Order: sequence, then C-alpha cells, then structure tokens
Amino acid sequence: MHLAYVALGANLDDPVTQVHAAFDALRGLPASRLLRTSSLYRTAPVGYAEQPDFINAVCLIDTTLSAQALLAALHDIEAAFGRERSFRNAPRTLDLDIIDYAHCRHSSDALTLPHPRAHERSFVMLPLAEIAPDYALGSYGTAAGLAERLGGSGIDLFSPPI
Ligand code: ADP
Ligand code: MG
Repeated sequence: MHLAYVALGANLDDPVTQVHAAFDALRGLPASRLLRTSSLYRTAPVGYAEQPDFINAVCLIDTTLSAQALLAALHDIEAAFGRERSFRNAPRTLDLDIIDYAHCRHSSDALTLPHPRAHERSFVMLPLAEIAPDYALGSYGTAAGLAERLGGSGIDLFSPPI
C-alpha cells in the first residue's frame, strides 16, 4: 500500500457540497481507502481574482494504485463533477491534485511529485498540516513548518472535520 495526500478545491455550484461529494467519490476509488480528511477551508481566489471563493481540503488515501493510475482516477472524478479545463486557475467545480505519493519524486508533463506548487500554497499546507503536521514534503520541509511560514492570510477554517 502507498500513502497519498490529495488536495481538493472547488469554487462553483455550491463548493461545500462539491467537496463533501468528492470525499464520497474518493471513498469509492478502486484498491484504495480514504483514511483521513481535513477540515474545509474557505480561500480567496489566486491568479484570476474575478471568481467566487474556493473551498479547499486535503485527504490521506491508502492505495495500491500507481501514482499514474491514481491521477487518472482523480481526473475521472473531476470529469464526473463536470469540470471543464479552460485555463490555469480558472473557476472549477472540482480540482484534485496529488500533493505527495509515498514520498516519490517524479517529473513528467502529466505528473510531478511532490506537486510542484503545493508547498507555496497556504490553502494546501494549512489543511495538510492539520492532518499530517510532521509529514515531510520532498525537500521543502514539514507540512506544519511550511504552513507556519506561509501564514493564514486569506484563509478561514470553514467547518469541523467530518
Ligand atoms: P491546476 O491544478 O494547477 O489548476 P490542472 O488541474 O488543470 O491545473 O492540472 C494541469 C495538469 O497538471 C494536469 O493535466 C496533470 O496531468 C498535471 N499534473 C502534474 N502533476 C500533478 C499532480 N501532482 N497532481 C495533479 N495534477 C498534476
Ligand atoms: Mg489540478
């Protein structure tokens, strides 16, 4: 089994409902178990500001899928949630990113591990630090250390863990 951390983000069509439904979809992943889910966080949009706030969360999945197969399954879930890929940082019903997969390092067009931007995103590091404070993200540092360095500006804890 391999431990993978997955980040969720949604900002269209009732994003709280989308993220809860996404947790349910992740519970249905083949050859996998959803072990932990973070609280939900409300985040102001980055990059393209003229869009609704995001709801973000992170979860821990135990899986026998390869990282590539896991990413393909996550893309299937995104598609089932009606995501249209328009442009980077565009509004989306559901975004699922692999933050880390069994401490693997990998770099290709389709998959970079650990996720190349997660360590600079407080909306990923705060929820990750909540469920795995001591987790070392590549050479970037621990989740708690990165979260503390980034701070919580623009992010509110939205709800208790489910
Ligand atoms: P973003 O999440 O940065 O807004 P997308 O969700 O549209 O952008 O993803 C763009 C591409 O990033 C996807 O086609 C995917 O193959 C690639 N990618 C590379 N590394 C990862 C990763 N660790 N997790 C998820 N997607 C990744
Ligand atoms: Mg993505």
